[in-house]
Amino acid sequence: MNTSLNAARRLAELERVRHETVDVLVVGLGATGAGVALDAASRGLTVAAIDAHDLAFGTSRWSSKMIHGGLRYLAKGQVGVAHESAVERGILLTRTAPHLVRAAPYLLPLTPAVTRGQAALVMTGYRMGDGLRAAARTPRRLLPGPSRLPAGKARELAPPLRGDGLRGALLSWDGRLVDDARLVVAIARTAAGHGARILTRCRALELHRDGAQVRDELTGESFTIRASVVVNAAGVWAGQLSREIRLRPSRGTHLVLRGQALPGLRAGLHVPIPGESNRFALVLPQHDGRVYVGLTDEPVDGPVPDVPEVPEEDVSALLAVLNTVLEAAVDRSQVAGAYAGLRPLLEAEGRTADLSRRHAVLTSPDEVITVTGGKLTTYRRMAQDAVDAAVRLRGLHAGPCVTHRVPLVGADQRGGPPELVERYGGEAAGVHELVKLHPEPVGAGRSLGELVWAVRHEGALDEADLLDRRTRIGLIPEDRDAALAAARLALTL
Ligand SMILES: Cc1cc2nc3c(=O)[nH]c(=O)nc-3n(C[C@H](O)[C@H](O)[C@H](O)COP(=O)(O)OP(=O)(O)OC[C@H]3O[C@@H](n4cnc5c(N)ncnc54)[C@H](O)[C@@H]3O)c2cc1C
Repeated sequence: MNTSLNAARRLAELERVRHETVDVLVVGLGATGAGVALDAASRGLTVAAIDAHDLAFGTSRWSSKMIHGGLRYLAKGQVGVAHESAVERGILLTRTAPHLVRAAPYLLPLTPAVTRGQAALVMTGYRMGDGLRAAARTPRRLLPGPSRLPAGKARELAPPLRGDGLRGALLSWDGRLVDDARLVVAIARTAAGHGARILTRCRALELHRDGAQVRDELTGESFTIRASVVVNAAGVWAGQLSREIRLRPSRGTHLVLRGQALPGLRAGLHVPIPGESNRFALVLPQHDGRVYVGLTDEPVDGPVPDVPEVPEEDVSALLAVLNTVLEAAVDRSQVAGAYAGLRPLLEAEGRTADLSRRHAVLTSPDEVITVTGGKLTTYRRMAQDAVDAAVRLRGLHAGPCVTHRVPLVGADQRGGPPELVERYGGEAAGVHELVKLHPEPVGAGRSLGELVWAVRHEGALDEADLLDRRTRIGLIPEDRDAALAAARLALTL
């Protein structure tokens, strides 16, 4: 099983893919498309999967990096979606990606703005969330139940909280990804290990019943990939390839703060949004010391950009909510970076915040299958449904779905330095060999050796792949500038 992706493998597979007919062509290598590639390949189908840019170029890298237990959906009465989320969270935590998904604690500070009635309601919700966990058979030792903390304890876990009037906090647990782009890279590499051809910088120009017209974005050359069935997993761009797909994207913005802005934070925060019942901003501490603060939900119209811009009003809105619970306000100058992503929501009536997060698998009149909607948490289930539909449509010879028991690259626990195990799981020892050869720091706690690893094994083809997706150094522009020369060097080593 060769799970390494790199420029040499890409070239060799590009050559082969022109002369064969694969069972499944997947368009888009976000979590969904990578998931489809893995699902199909692990059922014994031949697969080519392409992305116009890079692994995790789209929405999948702009998430809150949470693996949700589905509580939000339960609150909206979407019991099926909630249960599905909890089951998928359990699969990731226990079997397929315990190295990438961990339980993380969140506090809801009981400030004077939160009434006793509201607090009781939220606690009831948390208990129902714990019920979802139990129904999904995720052990409590992996995801502790909710509890109420006194104010002193809350401020121990979150020292920046304002003490004045604080009655305590509600503590709950949910899944957190080490990084969303890393999840996508792990899924794609696992698919490659099962023989899928993973081809970045290949744009689908047109989809057909039996393949696609594709352009190699590095050479400009166009060619055809022939396939028994095509799965469109192009996220918010899916409608550009399959005209009958109508999406209503909604923008979600996060701020990126350096750890010093919120010193000592050991838990995430659910910050009530003033004037909204049951909607919260999230404060999300990351393993690299940075803290993300999200997230907005604004419908966007018009053409879908490659990389969504962050409007200044999103920044001020998030800061205003955050500062309602802090002792010392965070000001604009402490916002070190910001990012926005577009949710691929299917068009429907109503406010985007209320649109269903359920996924859909649709077959167009020209018999192209599109899989969209959903979320990172449920990528595996989305992929299973899409491949089931593809197998049925063409009567392909395929085994049943096995991805619930296929560990992603790195899921096996072997030794290595703890900070590398945190990011690379069972591959940490291999990464460490390169880090010993190239120990030079490149910023955000990373070293040149890690960048070299990404070039040799994780399919990074240029500086942007390295800084913006294999590592997230680029989320802070100042750190990105400082690391650029090292990234260029890594590509030559
Ligand atoms: C702000 C925000 C926060 C979120 N937070 C969470 C969260 O915490 N937890 C969670 O579970 N979910 C979360 N979600 C939802 C989740 O991120 C998305 O549902 C998921 O990432 C969508 O993945 P995808 O693979 O379908 O799309 P994408 O990741 O967008 O992938 C589509 C890919 O298709 C490629 N592509 C486009 N056109 C072409 C073409 N013509 N040819 C070839 N390739 C093409 C793009 O380059 C892209 O890489 C969040 C979403 C947003 C916006």
